[in-house]
Amino acid sequence: MNKTITVIKGDGIGPEIVSQAMRVLDAVAELYGHAFTYQEISAGGNAIDQYGVPLPEESLQKCLDCDSVLLGAVGGPKWDGVEPARRPEKALLAIRKAMGLYANLRPAKLFSQLSDASPLKPSIVAEGIDFLVVRELIGGIYFGARRTETVDGKTVANDEMTYGEDEIRRIAHVAFQTAQKRRRSVISVDKANVLDTSRLWRRVMEEVASEYPDVMLSHMLVDNCAMQIVKKPSQFDVIVTENMFGDILSDEASMITGSIGMIPSSSLGEGTRGLYEPIHGSAPDIAGKNLANPIGTILSAAMMLKYSFDMEKESAAIEAAVEAALNDGLRTPDCMSEGMSLLGCKEMGDAIIEHLKNQK
Ligand code: NAD
Repeated sequence: MNKTITVIKGDGIGPEIVSQAMRVLDAVAELYGHAFTYQEISAGGNAIDQYGVPLPEESLQKCLDCDSVLLGAVGGPKWDGVEPARRPEKALLAIRKAMGLYANLRPAKLFSQLSDASPLKPSIVAEGIDFLVVRELIGGIYFGARRTETVDGKTVANDEMTYGEDEIRRIAHVAFQTAQKRRRSVISVDKANVLDTSRLWRRVMEEVASEYPDVMLSHMLVDNCAMQIVKKPSQFDVIVTENMFGDILSDEASMITGSIGMIPSSSLGEGTRGLYEPIHGSAPDIAGKNLANPIGTILSAAMMLKYSFDMEKESAAIEAAVEAALNDGLRTPDCMSEGMSLLGCKEMGDAIIEHLKNQK
């Protein structure tokens, strides 16, 4: 297959980690007979320096004219003083909006080799943590009408939460189709005992479930879900939920895996094109020192292969190569522990590529 990937290296550690992910993709291309063409674009702080704006028009166009986008991270203290409308993160919001990315997929997977990093009890961790939060990304209370007014001399603020059945239906399809590629279980999270939007959410989830008889659907209230994620995370395969609940639960989920440098994410819209990025930021404190963990970005590239390019085998090969490198005791400084071997960002890329080659 031939695929065109728009690459945003971004700021801080972005260029280091994305370079390693591109090397891994190149190795996959060579080993499995594909061709990946990269179009690198400027976005974020570096674009402000070069063009005076966080996302030049030409960069945005290249995000629309490609098969998927791979992103490192943007931002850093250098641009903290920039006026709000031109801040680096505005580039990401503009890209997500223009690409119509309404579904955010964030895995919470604890690598058994790093189980010490989890803040949970060993007995809970031993049951395994491997689930995925599918979050609705462009609806709900974050995008509803808001106002602050004075009523009877007191200030009153109001944020409106609205969901239409079509918005719920399309995210439901993403959740069920994602579950079909995993362990075929969807838990839909809502607050149906209180909110009308949640009652509609539940009804539409049930309707869509009938189109996926091979996937099991159950429902959970959001407050219970927050507890269950720390009490028995092994019960989850795919969690699907609305924007604000997903924002909170996906951060809780990544915390229990312990290592911010290891977690990938993807954002999807209509069609197969997506935006893939690690969940962490640009880590300016370690930028340019070959200290960053590239695994979150490398696993984001693996997600791209699985969810956008239908290359399941190649995606699984990258995940297995990451596991194998960890099994060898190889660690970047962020997850180093006694008895392990310390590697830099590039050397971790080398080790993962070596394991990819060995698998063939
Ligand atoms: P951060 O995620 O960049 O860093 C938090 C801590 O985690 C730091 O100590 C950092 O060194 C460490 N860390 C993060 N990624 C790592 C990796 N791959 N390997 C090893 N250590 C890693 O969060 P922050 O410090 O709050 O933000 C820094 C900048 O990144 C800010 O300008 C922020 O706006 C931006 N940011 C960007 C994105 C994005 O581009 N999607 C997301 C979050 C933050």
